[in-house]
This record gives sequence, structure tokens and C-alpha cells, in this order.
Amino acid sequence: MQAIREAQTAKLVAGAAGLGVVLSAGQAEHLLVLLDELDDWNQRMNLTAIRDREQQIAKHLLDSLSIHAFLRGKHIADIGTGAGFPGLPLALVNPDRDFTLLDSTAKKLRFVEHAAAKMGLTNVTTEHARAEVFKPKERFDCVLARAVGPIETFVHWCGPLVVGGGRLLAMKGRFPEAEIAAIPTGWKVAAVHRLSVPTLDEERHLVEICRSHDRV
Ligand code: SAM
Repeated sequence: MQAIREAQTAKLVAGAAGLGVVLSAGQAEHLLVLLDELDDWNQRMNLTAIRDREQQIAKHLLDSLSIHAFLRGKHIADIGTGAGFPGLPLALVNPDRDFTLLDSTAKKLRFVEHAAAKMGLTNVTTEHARAEVFKPKERFDCVLARAVGPIETFVHWCGPLVVGGGRLLAMKGRFPEAEIAAIPTGWKVAAVHRLSVPTLDEERHLVEICRSHDRV
């Protein structure tokens, strides 16, 4: 078992390094603890369809960390976080930023709170709300979403949550040409980043969206 854990740690550390994220031994262990807890809770509730550990490392941990370089500002929100992706891995490697992880399903947030405590995170808060009616006390510098629907909907729901000059970051698979064409008036694409997630042979793109009048 120890050898398996060490191999998983090595894979995670090497993969993160490929994304420009230097993980300490403690951080790598905390990320694997997140997967351990996910496996445990998954026996009682359906949190993820990805059960294979290698796949979990690639599709949950490394995929989440792949957008680390594109975060900006201090206040970050992850909308439709589900079991905490990408929010929990990003919160772990960004201790100086605060993360609000929002979902409309309370039981998923119970897992997120449990996992955040197990990971020793003090920069994560949860919000049980529907994104389209969420009224934060303070708006966010950056609002992220993975697998929460088309960009058009994301902008309608989450545009009002972003400060002036802030960014919406939509994590996508293939280049989302049709979704980009449908971006609502008042918003524009600041950049599309093609991402390469180590050990994952799938296309990934990050669409960075800002207000039309913002300087890119
Ligand atoms: N972001 C996670 C990931 O990539 O693993 C979860 C993606 S899951 C496909 C979509 C999540 O969005 C679910 O957890 C669901 O409860 C949440 N969700 C769907 N509609 C929502 C809404 N209107 N407001 C907030 N959360 C919503």
C-alpha cells in the first residue's frame, strides 16, 4: 500500500510541476486525502463517476490545477463546485486567496466542508445557493466554473458576481466555438488558453471572459 501511495504522490507532484505548480509533500498528501474522502463518501452518495485513482488524479486534481496560472485577485468563486472541483485543489495551492465554493445541492457542500477540514484549509467557505439568484456581500475578482453548462448561461448567471475589471473563467473541453459566438452583449472573450493536462489525452480550453469595455 505504501508503495502505491508513493507512486501516486510522485505522479501528482510531477504532473503539477508540468503545470508550473510546485507541490510540497504535505500538499500532495492533502490532495490524495481529498480523493480518499471522495472514494469513501462515494459509497454513500454519487459524487463522481470517476473511480479509478489514476483518472481521478488527472481529471480531478491536475485538471483543476491547470488553471492556477490564470487566477487573478484575492476573492475567487467556484460556481457549481460539486465535490469541490476545481475549487478545493486551487484553494490548497493558493493559501493567500479566499475561495467561495457554491452549489445548489446541499449534500455536495457537506462533502466539500468535510474535505476542506480534512485538507486543513482555512480559506474556503461554502454557499448553498442557485448561482442565478446568489447575491454575495462582496463581488469576486474571478469566478470559475467547470462543467456547469454553456458559456452564455454562465455569463448571465455569474457576470453580476464579478467586480469591475474581474474575470469569468470557463473550463471547457474542445474549443467551444458556438458557445463563444453566443456570449451575451456587454461581455467579450479576453483570451482562450489551450491547456495541456499531464497524463490526460483530451483537449482542454480555458475561456477567459471580461466586460466589453475592459482592457484585455
Ligand atoms: N464543477 C464540478 C466538477 O467539474 O466536477 C461539478 C460539475 S457538475 C456536472 C455540475 C454542478 O453544478 C452540480 O454539482 C450541480 O449541483 C451544480 N449546479 C447546477 N445548476 C446550478 C445552479 N443553478 N446553481 C448552482 N449550482 C448548480
